[in-house]
Amino acid sequence: MKNRLKDRIALVTGASSGIGEATALALAEQGAKVAIAARRKDRLDLLAAKLAGLGAEPLVLVADLALEAEAQRIVKETEAHYGRLDILVNNAGVMYLEPVAEADLGRWRHMLQLNVLSLIASTQAALAGMRVRRDGHVVNISSVAGRVANPNAAAYAATKFGVVGFSESLRREVYKDNIRVSVIEPGMVDTELRDHVGHEASRRAVNARAGEMRQLQAEDIADTILFCVTRPDYVCINEVLLRPTDQER
Ligand code: NDP
Repeated sequence: MKNRLKDRIALVTGASSGIGEATALALAEQGAKVAIAARRKDRLDLLAAKLAGLGAEPLVLVADLALEAEAQRIVKETEAHYGRLDILVNNAGVMYLEPVAEADLGRWRHMLQLNVLSLIASTQAALAGMRVRRDGHVVNISSVAGRVANPNAAAYAATKFGVVGFSESLRREVYKDNIRVSVIEPGMVDTELRDHVGHEASRRAVNARAGEMRQLQAEDIADTILFCVTRPDYVCINEVLLRPTDQER
């Protein structure tokens, strides 16, 4: 089935690689117009060319989303460009794994700002228009780490448990405005995410763990998001937890 998102306007954060890139393509394949945000302009431009080929009339938004003001700006620019925003996919994130006793708090502050505060800021910016139109869908990317806390992942878990809690509170505040909120909790996905783990022993450990399993692909998460945003508007998929078959915890 094609064109299930015809005339829908989406914004995907963290679209320059991995899950965000696959999601932007999946939404475009179903007819959505798609704005894409991240820091790497070259990667966004490459994706924009593919999206344009699908008729998605892409809008490239280069932004450092560790800054709340930038998270709000990209929402406002999307609305100004297309006239509204229907689907906000809050996907941009980093995973800085390290033991608490050795943790670099500057790194963790950055992760909290990006994974939590900016997600809150972009959501807040989108709500005003969604409320007026009584139409909108916010999809927040959490993680298995938002349901299961593992050693070496204390602050990452804090951000992803935070996203789960935020999403459910938000849903209960806005369901009467016909705004849907979905939170997605993937297990191990084969993306660049682990490359940015600065603590060497933790990076080695997580890569070794990934090597023991058949990982999820970014397209698997994009499919899941697509499922959520293509339900009839009386159906709200609140939460999806998905792991590789081979992943125990
Ligand atoms: P990637 O590293 O491939 O993608 C992360 C995206 O976030 C990139 O597009 C990156 O773009 C963007 N990003 C990072 N920092 C910033 C910033 N300061 N400002 C703007 N954009 C930024 O990893 P994934 O696709 O795996 O990650 C996407 C989401 O999925 C994250 O929230 C992650 O926590 C979550 N997740 C991933 C899992 C996995 O195993 N891979 C499992 C569970 C959840 P750029 O660098 O160009 O700015």
